[in-house]
Amino acid sequence: MLLTAQLLLNYQRCARRAFLDAYGDPSQKVPPSDFLLKLGQDALEHQRLVLANYTWVRPVYPKGDWPAGAQATLELMQQGVEQIHQGVLLTTDESGLVLVSSPDLLVKQPGLSIFGDWLYTPIDIKLSKRPKLEYQIILTFHVYLLATMQGAWPETAWLCIRDKGQLAIDLWQTLPQMQALLAELILILNQQQEPEIFIARNSCNLCTWFDHCYGIAQAEQHLSLLPGVTTSRYAILQQQNLTTLEALAQAEPTQLAVLPGFGSEIANKLVRQAQAVMHNQPLPHPHLASFATNFPLPTSPIELYFDIEAEPGLNLAFLHGVLVVDRQQQTDRFHPLLAERPEDEAIAWQQFLDLVHTYPTAPIFHFCAYETQTIERLAQLYHTPPHVVKPLLARCVDLHKWVTHGVILPIENYTLKLIARWMGFEWRDTEANGAQAICWYSEWLKTGDRQLLESIILYNEDDCRATWQVKDWLSVFLQSQQITS
Ligand code: SF4
Repeated sequence: MLLTAQLLLNYQRCARRAFLDAYGDPSQKVPPSDFLLKLGQDALEHQRLVLANYTWVRPVYPKGDWPAGAQATLELMQQGVEQIHQGVLLTTDESGLVLVSSPDLLVKQPGLSIFGDWLYTPIDIKLSKRPKLEYQIILTFHVYLLATMQGAWPETAWLCIRDKGQLAIDLWQTLPQMQALLAELILILNQQQEPEIFIARNSCNLCTWFDHCYGIAQAEQHLSLLPGVTTSRYAILQQQNLTTLEALAQAEPTQLAVLPGFGSEIANKLVRQAQAVMHNQPLPHPHLASFATNFPLPTSPIELYFDIEAEPGLNLAFLHGVLVVDRQQQTDRFHPLLAERPEDEAIAWQQFLDLVHTYPTAPIFHFCAYETQTIERLAQLYHTPPHVVKPLLARCVDLHKWVTHGVILPIENYTLKLIARWMGFEWRDTEANGAQAICWYSEWLKTGDRQLLESIILYNEDDCRATWQVKDWLSVFLQSQQITS
């Protein structure tokens, strides 16, 4: 059995994922999404650019033959080669598990090792803008294996990240963490303990085991599918024997409120969330009346529904979609304000400003804070005067905030997709999403295929229309609760 650096990385993201990687049925995995493939390609391209600054040698060995790779790497280190790319580090633990890793670079440094008056230290190259702890742990894993091969610990190891270059990692801080994680993972692998499912959007979204795990979680009505149940709260609910939807729906909020990490607000909301899902019924949020008083939901003869498509990797907002709804004339018209090239971002921004100023009193509905944050960023970038931006921001109404403070819905999470779908809206392209739009835009830049732009615009328009549906549903719900806004 092999314990690779990738397995340790996946273990940090989700224990179950590492287990499935080792023991799962590969036919239950789904192929990586276009977005995941794009991330991989971008990472490789970044690595290629960084490696161009080094004169490296790569060990030659049959693909997948790790012992041969380790032997070839050892020989390069014995020869004192200055820089080794994709060397293989390998050792076997006392249980017979083979630990293996392959740092992006091994760099020769002065110091004493079994080779003589030199030793090696690893560098990993990451596309990330931050030195994430999970990457520091993997770097420390390289050092741990390297020490067994060269008989010496390097003082420093390096992470090379985007925009910031090389950062030294504090190995004394990360070593105990890495050892603890490694010991846990070895135990799971040796004892073949399958960790329980826990569907968490951040870690599951890009996981290729998602369909498999989600199917099981749905069949079990697993509590991780309930908004507000975090891993730490779930552990406490387990201690209280509250592990089913029914049990949580019938729980007394005052009993939950005293538990660590809960409090009366969260306890109330969790129990009501469980009740909403159990009975497939929307429920008013406990603070609906006060929220509606403080943040009235406007209704206007003309309303604008706004959604941005962006490429975070380029820090680029490439599409401002605006749906103009004229309630009096009963018409609606969608305006896709598109930067066909990244350098056209300023033009699309100005077109957006011109359009929204055509309707100077219309409220601008959007979903989540990203739209207002992007308005602020673009205003700063393109020197839009405050007397233009401030009134614009004042017209923005975040419907995500409205939904999460106004109503408890029988859904698994409060994304626009799930909310609007529950309200009866269907996207014309059922496979489209924000990550896919990023891939389409990247492909458009490479190929010039206009069909890709059409797909983005169609998806963006549907996001605007879904936002409209949410607004109308909320208005009706408020009336049903006899709340005037
Ligand atoms: S889908 Fe989620 S729970 Fe399942 S293995 Fe992947 S990250 Fe873990």
